[in-house]
Amino acid sequence: MTDIPTREIFWQISGRGIFYLLSMAALAVLSWGLFQGVRFVRRGPASSTGPVRTLGTRAVIADILSHRPLAGENNARWWHLLIFFGFVLLFLVTCYVMLAHYGREALFTGVPYLLVTLTADLAGAAVILGALLALFTMRRDDSPARDRSRGKAAALSLLAAVCVTGFLVEGLRIHLTGDPWRGWSPVGAVVSSMLPSLAGSEGPRLFKGLWWLHSILALGLLAWLPLSARFRHMFFLPFHRAAVPLEPKSPAPVPDLGSLRTARPSPGSVRLGVETPADTTRRQRLGLLACMDCGRCERLCPAFLTGQSLTPRRYLQDLREYVMRSGEEGRGGREKNASAGEAITVSALWACRLCRACEELCPAGIGHVSQIIEIRRAEVLGHGRLPDDGAAALRNLARTGDPYGAGPSERAAWIRDQRLSCLPKRDPGKPLLLWTGCFQPGDEQKPRVLSCLSALLKQFEIPFFIHEGTSCCGDPARILGDEDLFQALATQQIKEIEDSGAEEVLVHCPHCYTVLKDVYPLLGARFSVVHTSELFRDRTEEKGLVGRGGFPNPLSVVYHDPCFLSRYQDLADSPRSILGALAGLELREAPRGGRKGYCCGAGGGHFFMDLDLQERPSSQRLEELLGQGPQVLAVSCGFCFSMFDDALRRLPDPPAVRIADWLELLKEAAER
Ligand code: SF4
Ligand code: SF4
Repeated sequence: MTDIPTREIFWQISGRGIFYLLSMAALAVLSWGLFQGVRFVRRGPASSTGPVRTLGTRAVIADILSHRPLAGENNARWWHLLIFFGFVLLFLVTCYVMLAHYGREALFTGVPYLLVTLTADLAGAAVILGALLALFTMRRDDSPARDRSRGKAAALSLLAAVCVTGFLVEGLRIHLTGDPWRGWSPVGAVVSSMLPSLAGSEGPRLFKGLWWLHSILALGLLAWLPLSARFRHMFFLPFHRAAVPLEPKSPAPVPDLGSLRTARPSPGSVRLGVETPADTTRRQRLGLLACMDCGRCERLCPAFLTGQSLTPRRYLQDLREYVMRSGEEGRGGREKNASAGEAITVSALWACRLCRACEELCPAGIGHVSQIIEIRRAEVLGHGRLPDDGAAALRNLARTGDPYGAGPSERAAWIRDQRLSCLPKRDPGKPLLLWTGCFQPGDEQKPRVLSCLSALLKQFEIPFFIHEGTSCCGDPARILGDEDLFQALATQQIKEIEDSGAEEVLVHCPHCYTVLKDVYPLLGARFSVVHTSELFRDRTEEKGLVGRGGFPNPLSVVYHDPCFLSRYQDLADSPRSILGALAGLELREAPRGGRKGYCCGAGGGHFFMDLDLQERPSSQRLEELLGQGPQVLAVSCGFCFSMFDDALRRLPDPPAVRIADWLELLKEAAER
């Protein structure tokens, strides 16, 4: 030992040639795995969405450094941060030591040596701590979406084993050499103090054995990185997150169907959506490799949590395996008989509510919803396959422009019957169009809400008009996979709105709002779209109108978020701020609200397809909402209203709770 802090890098180790051979083999497997991944991505066609606003590199780097996307998920953020930074530091330290060994020995002498030693020690301890915390969290997690797979446990155990053997090697070296700089290797020093005394050549022999075990485990881990979903995400996830489109918020790309509409296709003649593995786009393939198999996407999935065959994680894994297995499409063109629909069962494909809870929770930014819509498109337009109830809704839409089958004259009569306080025709100075949407005969809720809305507009002195030529926005066709029909309806509705002279459209239904605001502009619409909650929130703030009303007796209200308003449109706060401003109204919060709300089960076309389920998302959600003991359950969507109304009726002993749209409550408060 010298007085200058340092140590011999390959102390006691002979047979370095074998070590180099093993290192090169590990690096070769790593490079091959990465090359395969890149090739897999590049084989897909470019995404059809065109230029989009994406998260961008800086935001992704910030997310990686802070691990913000993992916040709120048990201890995931903390154990992953420990493992991530520990692993990165160990990698950098290893590169530094190699550089010192083959370049400048001075780099491994004196203060640099002490700092590198300390860094390696702390980094190794962080990895072990992170792995233990992750394993502990796994064991304690009792949610249905818990991840207790052997793959995760094996990956964590391997990480911990590499570091534990590293500390044993270090501890034994300190023990055998009496290293005077042991204070800079605190964990190694503790291990050293726990070792028994070893006689003669026993110590060096044990050291060599441990050194080789540690090296083989570390090199095995290096080779395994691109082959395991548990580790592969470290290479692909940052690129995928950086490319995730932020806008538009439409649930799937809007293909250019102009040519398809001029020659109306027959089933089987259209190639649209993801039909074969070859149709899986580059962005989707990057997502398949970015998935870390964490299972967060299942935690709020109404299909998974009601025991249906869809689990977003399993679906993604199956799709990845399927596309990878049939991955020779790049050489010989499309595989004729392969269908991407084979990667997901028919029942799973149609079980999805398109609620986007999976995407909200996915730290990799995977677009499950657009993939599912793309497969539905291929199924419906390519093969004419969809559930009977859904097909009936599409037939109605194609025949009458309304999913419930009401014709234009029936709709016009219905609108006139509502006696809405509107202008008979457009006033040039008042170009706000109140969107009425589709018409379901026998529905009493929608007329009630529309009438409240028109009365409120009058009371708040907001001029508006109604145009009888408008009908369904086409959303049911879009979510059920008939993009051709959707675009035909949407184009027609855009023309109706523009011909009416409207400069702005006021929409209450969250589904219509999303389509009008985010999808219609992609088809050429130029008018602006405002949601009722935005309009009344702004008016409330501007004029303090709401403050003058209120309920004479205290009224407890629990509000349920529609997925298309809270998650798709980020408007969870607007209805709450309006309700919260009403005097006498006590707003209660149920668990699983806001952007992390639980779906009522009506989305994805399920309002039109009533599956005979043992357990329903609406019943699960209703139980949660009723658990707050409200007098009123406030909703913001006609679909949610119907689902809860139905769930309430199914209860053996329904409580005396009223289900009402927040607009109804606003009107009642404002007219006092
Ligand atoms: S899709 Fe996202 S949330 Fe689901 S397992 Fe993969 S990374 Fe996790
Ligand atoms: S969109 Fe909703 S229903 Fe569909 S997979 Fe995601 S969480 Fe499940």
